Amino acid sequence: MKINLNEILKGKNRVALGGHVRPDGDCIGSCLGLYMYMKEQYPETETDVYLETVPEAYQMIRCTDEVKSEISGSEAYDLFICLDCGDAKRLGFSEPLFENAKETFCIDHHVSNGAFADYNYIVPDASSTSELVYRLVDRDKIDKSMAEALYMGLAHDTGVFQYSCTSPETMEIAADLMRKGIDGSEIIDRTYYEKTYVQNQILGRALLESMLILDKRCIVSVVRKKEMEFFQAVPADLEGIVSQLRQTKGVEVAMFLHEMAPQEFKVSLRSKGKVDVSKIASYFGGGGHVRAAGVRMHGSSHDVINNITGRIVLQLDHSGSEDEEGEMAGME
Ligand code: 5GP
Ligand code: MN
Repeated sequence: MKINLNEILKGKNRVALGGHVRPDGDCIGSCLGLYMYMKEQYPETETDVYLETVPEAYQMIRCTDEVKSEISGSEAYDLFICLDCGDAKRLGFSEPLFENAKETFCIDHHVSNGAFADYNYIVPDASSTSELVYRLVDRDKIDKSMAEALYMGLAHDTGVFQYSCTSPETMEIAADLMRKGIDGSEIIDRTYYEKTYVQNQILGRALLESMLILDKRCIVSVVRKKEMEFFQAVPADLEGIVSQLRQTKGVEVAMFLHEMAPQEFKVSLRSKGKVDVSKIASYFGGGGHVRAAGVRMHGSSHDVINNITGRIVLQLDHSGSEDEEGEMAGME
């Protein structure tokens, strides 16, 4: 079925938008971009946007002050639009609104997404959910503020137009958004590159304590609760650490563990391409993309690292033999 936003919105009086826990640049950009569009183009529709607290750096995006970070009221929405979530659990606190909504619509680019809504617009090779929002709306009606939100999403999920998910179409969309009069460099600098002192300190700590394993093909680092308390860091301060680990010369996979509670870790995985980390995260109940994925796991850090490296080894050994046969060419 061809997805048409206008058709899906027909007859819907109350619509909610929601993104994933620990919202990142693409999640915030796609949710706020679509929210602004809904308010402008569908003023008769009552639209709400649900996200966990938006980190300060992202608050330069318009309407972030209208985001709802808790549920109030019990009336079901006519439509819940879920953005940048590979599964409904990823919605976190807003999941009950998704479950109770009369109809649901999912816009996403995670390869692990099983099309869990009534309507699904899932394109795994799209750079970002923000790119998909751009494709769904009438591009002539995108104003400057909406362009800023979508441009931020594109820039973040492509590592500033560098990762292999950056397609010619991504660049064309970015160009069109630039023509709306946005200050692209300012958005990238303030939301992507700029780090607080605390963020740099915790990054430094993670790099210093990192270990090379699997014959230097994998790099691992762990940040524990007590270190977070020592640096007075919050989970959002950890964004970007795993990408920095991946840049290490010679490694295929970077693994970053954040201790959320005793014996409970948020695991972030990044790959240079040989290993499909989405498969590994999905195996343990998480999900993501070929080169970037995540999962929550229980046990000691040693157990978690051992369990994950076991799955990495399976792919690395396998990829070695495939390489010889020249079958890796099509892999992301
Ligand atoms: P990050 O490591 O930055 O948290 O996440 C990397 C990618 O994996 C993101 O696209 C994110 O949406 C996805 N991801 C992270 N954690 C989970 C998880 O627990 N479940 C699922 N399904 N996806 C996740
Ligand atoms: Mn995304």
